Amino acid sequence: MPVESGRDKAARFLAQSVQRDQLSHAYLLIGPQGSGKTSLAWDFAQHLLCAEGGCGSCEDCQRVQRRSHPDVHVLAPQGVKGYVIEQVRDLVRDSALAPIQASAKLYLLQRCELLQDAAANALLKTLEEPPANTYFVLTARTREAILPTILSRCTVLELGSAPADEALVELMRQTGAKPERALGALAICGGSVQRACAFLASPARLALWDRAAATMESLLGADDLQLLQDAKDLVTAARAPLEDVSAQHEEQLEEGGDYLSRSALRSLGEQQKRELASQEREFLGELLACIRSWLGDGLSLAVGAPRALANTRSAAALRQLASQLPSQNFVNALKSVDLAGKRIAYGVTPQLAVEALLFDLRKVLSCPK
Ligand SMILES: [Zn+2]
Repeated sequence: MPVESGRDKAARFLAQSVQRDQLSHAYLLIGPQGSGKTSLAWDFAQHLLCAEGGCGSCEDCQRVQRRSHPDVHVLAPQGVKGYVIEQVRDLVRDSALAPIQASAKLYLLQRCELLQDAAANALLKTLEEPPANTYFVLTARTREAILPTILSRCTVLELGSAPADEALVELMRQTGAKPERALGALAICGGSVQRACAFLASPARLALWDRAAATMESLLGADDLQLLQDAKDLVTAARAPLEDVSAQHEEQLEEGGDYLSRSALRSLGEQQKRELASQEREFLGELLACIRSWLGDGLSLAVGAPRALANTRSAAALRQLASQLPSQNFVNALKSVDLAGKRIAYGVTPQLAVEALLFDLRKVLSCPK
């Protein structure tokens, strides 16, 4: 008999709760990246918003499946350190309004370990006594980081992790990607199948991966001027996917123009501005993750660990480099990437941080120690 995963169990529990009309106002889904928290929340939204309990064919179901139902609101931390209080205030204000299309509405709050301090306090009352037919699904990677005041107001469901092999198979099933490509995307996206799917579907993000690999291949032969140009090109490539986000935002504003008041439209605009900034940080993080995965390939070759390479286009360059350098150089190079991430988090401009990184990497990777 196949073993039921944590996600399957939680999905069954949620579907039954809808059927039996035994719903809580707030659920907290806990599981590591890639364990299916977000897709489970959307499945729940479909059961909840469809008049037939999730028929799959009505307009509510279809809009949920397209991730564009006006009564499902998805929130992610928009500040450098987590949720900002303006976000939560917008949410509280919005939650008092009636649903737009369905008979209920759902707020999906991701990464709730980053819901702290004033932002968390601003949510407590609404979480405890939400307006009628308003539901919350919170997600988090671990239970420890969740504030007790949040935890105690939610029905907690633990999903457990998806084993790495399963994530790979699932990603290949969903995208039709070849194993090496799927493996690379998973490494860059921290093991999350959902993020890796979006990554593989975005030409701009794939182009970023390709550019990062090309830059690493030519790094040792590049002069200072070339490195400065490479850094500029990389940052431009990392920002390119933001155009897709801006286009989505314009669509949202246009659609919202049909049913939102002027002040609601303004607050949507503000929300989008914060989202754009947080997406920019995410794509810059993805650039660093591309470089990290390239160096990870180098490290595994240098220590002779047999595993498939994520950056197959660079196989020859990686093999050559790994044959010349001890593994410690790759370890040091990976530390430089971490440092670049910290610099960006502390407000160094991405351009400067990436320039410094490329200079560091060229130095670290050119001298055997
Ligand atoms: Zn339906």
